[in-house]
Amino acid sequence: MDVLAQLEPQSVFRFFEQMCAIPHGSGNTKAVSDWCADFARARNLEYHQDADHNIIIIKEATPGYEQAEPMILQGHLDMVCQKEPGCAKDMEKEGLDLEVDGDWVRAKGTTLGSDDGIAVAMALAVLDADDIAHPRVEAVFTTDEETGLFGAASIDVSPLKGRRMINMDSEAEGVFTVSCAGGNTTTCILPLRREAFSGCALRITVGGLTGGHSGSEIDKGSANANMLMGRVLQAAAACTELRIVSVDGGLKNNAIPVESVACVVVADQAAARDALAEMNDVLRSEYHLPDPNLFVTAQAEEATQPAMDAVTTDKVICMLTCLPNGIQAMSADIPGLVQTSLNLGILTTAAEELCAEFSLRSSIDSQKEMLKRRMACLMAQLGGRVTFEGEYTGWQYQEHSPLRELMAEVFTEQYGKAPKIEAIHAGLECGLFAGKMPGLDCVSIGPDLLGVHTPRERMSISSVQRVWKFLLEVLKRAR
Ligand SMILES: [Zn+2]
Repeated sequence: MDVLAQLEPQSVFRFFEQMCAIPHGSGNTKAVSDWCADFARARNLEYHQDADHNIIIIKEATPGYEQAEPMILQGHLDMVCQKEPGCAKDMEKEGLDLEVDGDWVRAKGTTLGSDDGIAVAMALAVLDADDIAHPRVEAVFTTDEETGLFGAASIDVSPLKGRRMINMDSEAEGVFTVSCAGGNTTTCILPLRREAFSGCALRITVGGLTGGHSGSEIDKGSANANMLMGRVLQAAAACTELRIVSVDGGLKNNAIPVESVACVVVADQAAARDALAEMNDVLRSEYHLPDPNLFVTAQAEEATQPAMDAVTTDKVICMLTCLPNGIQAMSADIPGLVQTSLNLGILTTAAEELCAEFSLRSSIDSQKEMLKRRMACLMAQLGGRVTFEGEYTGWQYQEHSPLRELMAEVFTEQYGKAPKIEAIHAGLECGLFAGKMPGLDCVSIGPDLLGVHTPRERMSISSVQRVWKFLLEVLKRAR
């Protein structure tokens, strides 16, 4: 303990160090939540703790701010637990071993949990102080953000009177995040009719792709192996009679699939192989930059089950060529931001049905709905169906945001330049809060953190100092 005792601002680093002594990986947040409850009780602060260990702590306005709108300070209690190979620490039971290295705080051998412990430490330092001017502060600490935003999904926000929120889960000083995507998992299901078809069985592989995250990397131009397979099958079916036996590719709906494999039966093997060789050249040329190692191959194989009939084969090819995939719209508000996209991440064939599982994202909820309807419409025409799961709301860019304007003004004064206003094409807790609290005015900030979610995670001390000073000035002016 007391490795950080000499660092300014002392109260922030003291609470951060105390928190690091309590194991708090995702799913293991009762103790850290109870520590926050003890903090509140010791200071006679109102608090609300729930069964998922989310906790809200409220401190009334300081003199002169009684009429000001409350300010919500939000972060998450849980951290990602990762260790270097050979590190013996039991992160379920043991606290972290902090060390200071120049301008950086890190944890020996493990993640640091500055994502998002620094948010909790700063909020507690505000609640603890008697010399900081502020409106009513409502500190909101959620759990299990890292495993799926579960705390933000379950938390009851009724104790909150505020409708402006500073989320402190961003990792780059000077960047204000002001919008994120909502999403869901949409699965398109086609019933399969099979019948015997005599021909030559082939195993077709579309592989060697680059892949990537279906949110943050959907705009990199890499191909989706499942969708390319649709084109490959269509090209082969145009040259010879072809029946699909199965087509499978991808493991996670939020990863762009790098390989897809189809088993087919064809009437004319030579014609099919020629068509596949041509598609190999066509696709390698189209994707030579994002997917330089792309290949399409075919090899003879034994069919293990009857092929789909001709009508069903056509329907599968229709799905894999006509279902929307990839970027659907770019934002008009924020240049360069993907607004709406989807990714056919997992394609699986069972005996009686084919399932195509997509991850949908949009910062505009109505566009997500539009996509869902489009997919339902096509699948109804094909005699199939769709299911929707895991809906979460987007956080739409607010053209008029008094909080963002106030923060930008303070930032510009303190830093001598304007902040970068950014949006991300992935989910954030802010989206869930915006969904629960209509009219929420929200900005996400944070100090410089490097290597988050890895044992190389570290937090810049000087950046914490500047962000703290910035936060205090924002609170002071939030009348
Ligand atoms: Zn985080």
